[in-house]
Amino acid sequence: MADKNIPYKIYLEENEMPLNWYNVRADMKNKPAPLLNPGTHQPMTAEELGGVFCADLVAQELDNDTPYIPIPEEIRKFYKMYRPSPLVRAYCLEEKLGTPAKIYYKFEGNNTSGSHKLNSAIAQAYYAKKQGLKGVTTETGAGQWGTALSMACAYLGLDCKVYMVKVSYEQKPFRREVMRTYGASVTPSPSMETNVGRKILAEHPGTTGSLGCAISEAVEVAVSNPGYRYVLGSVLNQVLLHQSVIGLETKAAMDKYGVKPDLIIGCAGGGSNLGGLIAPFMGQKLRGEEDYRIIAVEPASCPSLTRGVFAYDFCDTGMVCPLAKMYTLGSDFIPAPNHAGGLRYHGMSPVLSQLYHDGLMEAVSVPQTKVFDAAELFARCEGILPAPESSHAIRVAIDEALKCKESGEEKTILFGLTGTGYFDMVAYEKYHDGKMDDYIPTDEELQSYFAKLPKVE
Ligand SMILES: *Cc1c(COP(=O)(O)O)cnc(C)c1O
Repeated sequence: MADKNIPYKIYLEENEMPLNWYNVRADMKNKPAPLLNPGTHQPMTAEELGGVFCADLVAQELDNDTPYIPIPEEIRKFYKMYRPSPLVRAYCLEEKLGTPAKIYYKFEGNNTSGSHKLNSAIAQAYYAKKQGLKGVTTETGAGQWGTALSMACAYLGLDCKVYMVKVSYEQKPFRREVMRTYGASVTPSPSMETNVGRKILAEHPGTTGSLGCAISEAVEVAVSNPGYRYVLGSVLNQVLLHQSVIGLETKAAMDKYGVKPDLIIGCAGGGSNLGGLIAPFMGQKLRGEEDYRIIAVEPASCPSLTRGVFAYDFCDTGMVCPLAKMYTLGSDFIPAPNHAGGLRYHGMSPVLSQLYHDGLMEAVSVPQTKVFDAAELFARCEGILPAPESSHAIRVAIDEALKCKESGEEKTILFGLTGTGYFDMVAYEKYHDGKMDDYIPTDEELQSYFAKLPKVE
């Protein structure tokens, strides 16, 4: 069954690696809606955004027209430490499933941070350094983004302050120590160091925190300390732009071997890995050159695309950040405490939201025990112990391959394997001990969050 012309792992030569990021917005007929000022509801200007974000990143955020943006040489030099990432033909998984489908995955877990987040972390740290800043602030939930940013800041000699959701800070002490090894300061959020943290603690004593709350704290610290800016690891247009390196490498490798995916699958939290993986393929689709089926996979416990509404919403709990038009569950939404599979953000990238709204991609949600079934099957035949987030994509890739087995179709399936799960063994433990459940929010619950969305004309 195996096609011996195609190696197990495909790496690109150095001179085949991308020199430019690809900005899919340039080819979108319906551009993503602009970020709005939370007070005036007017589009955020570059000047307003510049108080929070680095200048070059603001320019990238607002650029809906330039298709290719050069990757600065220093960033390419850093990328070469861990890129190109391998594109792997999952021969063992195909055999195990007995499917005629050909399955490929792009593996982004081959760096110490263990995920694709380093691709944008180094870019954001680079532009902060270029602007002569002292440092950056950010939030981290599961810890992958904080780790990636710490690595990038250590490389460039920037200060890095991370607000880590308290429950993760306590449950993942080793993640925390990795960040400190790379020189970051790590504060459990909510903390007593910020106005917003003190306010949240006064209103909800004993809270274990949320991403939205940690974002509010990190933004406050950035805007009130000269020489600091805030950086974010997902959702924003600029992050999807940086992550396009994943898709560009994938496409170059597939083109080299004459392979074309029929189906492209990725997990979606804030949408950055999926947006990056699909970028050049979506570009072809938007230009009418090729067609692909594209599927976003999200947890049934945090189903922003499949059950959320397409509306302007706050990006954070403290309501200090700009409003973004996106598929959202409401900025107060917090997934059930038993949800261990990551992808917990209430909203979705405005770019992906618009593409989904325009019918250019699909979305499905999957319950977490089914996700861990897939993770374990994958680990046992492909060797890699996947992150729970990545395993959402594995689940749907397996389901689609099994459909091919029934129909006899030899489809080519590509999915994004965003990272490794070594820091998620508490989640795996719950799964192995049968203590994991599949809590799915009711319509009534979701309605209560939708009712609180900001009213934007
Ligand atoms: C952060 C993360 C995700 C989800 O974020 P996106 O922005 O949706 O890509 C997925 N997988 C891993 C391993 C992550 O660390």
